[in-house]
Amino acid sequence: MTLAESLSLYAILDYMPQKVTRLSATKISTFEQCAKYYEFQYVHRAKRSFTPIEWEVGSIVHDIIARLFRQIRDKQRGTIPKLGNAEWYRPLLADATSNLRNQVDEGIVRIVRPDERMQSYEEQMDNALGTFTAKALPLLHDHKIVGVEADLGRFNLDGIQIDGRLDLITQSGGNLYVHDWKTGGRRDEDARQAKIYYFASKDKYRQPATTFTLYYLAEAGDIVTSYTFSQEQRALLSAEIADIAARINALETYQARVSVLCHWCPYGPQCDEGNAYMSAHPPPVKKDQIDLGLVT
Ligand code: SF4
Repeated sequence: MTLAESLSLYAILDYMPQKVTRLSATKISTFEQCAKYYEFQYVHRAKRSFTPIEWEVGSIVHDIIARLFRQIRDKQRGTIPKLGNAEWYRPLLADATSNLRNQVDEGIVRIVRPDERMQSYEEQMDNALGTFTAKALPLLHDHKIVGVEADLGRFNLDGIQIDGRLDLITQSGGNLYVHDWKTGGRRDEDARQAKIYYFASKDKYRQPATTFTLYYLAEAGDIVTSYTFSQEQRALLSAEIADIAARINALETYQARVSVLCHWCPYGPQCDEGNAYMSAHPPPVKKDQIDLGLVT
């Protein structure tokens, strides 16, 4: 085989769908939104053209909360105290906000909605951290920290390695609690993520009584939804993962699936189908409720 022939073979292999050996809740959501998006992100690991600001808002809130629990783990022997200062997060948020403003100015982070302003995202972060402090933190008083932003370990379903990150793991009264912060709205996929993280935590920490809890920090009222699952549900989850992997493996090409979410797709500027859609459909405005499925 000549060098030119082997190079063209590599080029063909690069564009052929590849067998799935690893999945995550986010990978599955990406695939269900648009197979071409999945291809950009996980097959070619393409460089993003920008990051939507909603993702950064989620990352900043998660990062500030993780920093609090790491400090408690290191300085308070891991037992979560009552916090005397309800505004503990303000200096961290001020730094992160200033950095975010610079990234928006440089075009690295993009505000997608044309009538939306930076201030609104600053308020969202402030409100999420205020809600966390007022409503989530008191529920964790005296819990012992087991892990902060921990991986799922060697969690495997039907031969597929499942990846993910557990925001916080605590122990109280002999029970294990796994906590996940949400900065977006409630989504149908949340129950699947809960199932994955619940069974991964059972396998990793081997505690008989485990509870997985989602905290919706953007909501008013009751922000908490807790889950436990049976072994039958583990079998159903395993079958669901096998089915998703089979659907990805059966692809001949990664088809584009255009929708309003193209405006938030970090590969939109590199995608012909997405560009055509976006030229014909301007980005939505503030009042349009859009389920940004990939926002953490
Ligand atoms: S721009 Fe739209 S169609 Fe193109 S990859 Fe992204 S989500 Fe898919």
